Amino acid sequence: MEGCYDVTIIGGGPAGLFSAFYSGLRNVKTKIIEYQPKLGGKVLLYPDKLIWDVGGQPPVIGETFAKQIVEQGMTFNPTVCTNTKVDFIEKVENHFCITTSKGDKHYSKTIIMACGGGIINPKRLELKEARKYEQKNLHYTVSSIKQFANKVVLISGGGDAAIDWAVGLLPIAKKIMVVYRKEQLSAHEAYVVKVQQSDASILYNTTIKGFIENCDDQTIKKVVLQNTKTGEIHDQEVDHVIVSHGYNLEDSFKWAQNIALDKQDDYFFKGNAFGCTSEQGIFAAGDILSYQGKINLLAGAFHDAVNAVNSVKRYLEPNSNQVAMVSSHNDAFEERNASIMKNMFKEV
Ligand SMILES: Cc1cc2nc3c(=O)[nH]c(=O)nc-3n(C[C@H](O)[C@H](O)[C@H](O)COP(=O)(O)OP(=O)(O)OC[C@H]3O[C@@H](n4cnc5c(N)ncnc54)[C@H](O)[C@@H]3O)c2cc1C
Repeated sequence: MEGCYDVTIIGGGPAGLFSAFYSGLRNVKTKIIEYQPKLGGKVLLYPDKLIWDVGGQPPVIGETFAKQIVEQGMTFNPTVCTNTKVDFIEKVENHFCITTSKGDKHYSKTIIMACGGGIINPKRLELKEARKYEQKNLHYTVSSIKQFANKVVLISGGGDAAIDWAVGLLPIAKKIMVVYRKEQLSAHEAYVVKVQQSDASILYNTTIKGFIENCDDQTIKKVVLQNTKTGEIHDQEVDHVIVSHGYNLEDSFKWAQNIALDKQDDYFFKGNAFGCTSEQGIFAAGDILSYQGKINLLAGAFHDAVNAVNSVKRYLEPNSNQVAMVSSHNDAFEERNASIMKNMFKEV
């Protein structure tokens, strides 16, 4: 069938991207479908955090790591559809028809589900005017901490992520203010103590009621705060506002009704270490896949990806090898190796 891929990977996070790399290595025609505008998955939620626990990888910030996995995922030029949400999958004769939320259809002989914990969107403020500051000084995710150097930063939220940001920004910001709707911070105790012992100010029982705009550049100049107990309102001058109220998790799997789920949480796919799910032709890798001995880490996502792709290959070509030749001896890299070597010796 024209336009039918050997494998379609749903989710462009670490598991999906490494699956795309590995399926290229195994000469499998590949498409990735990702809901977010950018590839990288959950790693994009922690761009400034240092990742230490990936084998052979010295500590690296999430942003750089995301770039690296995207670059590697693109090695064999898979087709990539971003801003595309998969809504439904059905088996039609000997292939799958994947329907997106826009109504588009994608066809594939096999599928690798690499959709992590589903679609993650930060919870936004329920204030109409908030949207217009999002590209300016209102942040739901922190893409770069440099912008907060010597600035007054108000952080709304009292959970792990909010307090994590407060602690992370303490050494560089001019002033940190934490506002939280509850009476006590609910983050990890050690981090709560750090913030409480610092010169950050913490306002409990407090929520954001509105903003006062800076007329010159249409950024937020002041945040209007309300004490939820007394009703008292006051405003606070700021340079930046970070809202960390958690995430809306959109369950991706309503359409995957036929795939058996892990009984313990009724959410993740129950499978095996070869990436097989209960549905023939649908494989899985990364956080979405559950099996005994599973590692819910980046290292585990990569491991799963290799197994899922090997299973795809064997499903498509039952006589193919169970595993691929190691990369150092794999013909797939012949041309690239030659050009890399050439450049290496040029530099010597
Ligand atoms: C704050 C934080 C810090 C972490 N730190 C570390 C660490 O230091 N070391 C470590 O090893 N691990 C860490 N992890 C865990 C690690 O990030 C995950 O294990 C890893 O991202 C899992 O990769 P994945 O590809 O399975 O899923 P994800 O990264 O979640 O990617 C899944 C992708 O699928 C997309 N998707 C979902 N549903 C659909 C749909 N219906 N249609 C289209 N696209 C869809 C999503 O948008 C997403 O991009 C951390 C996690 C968090 C949250």
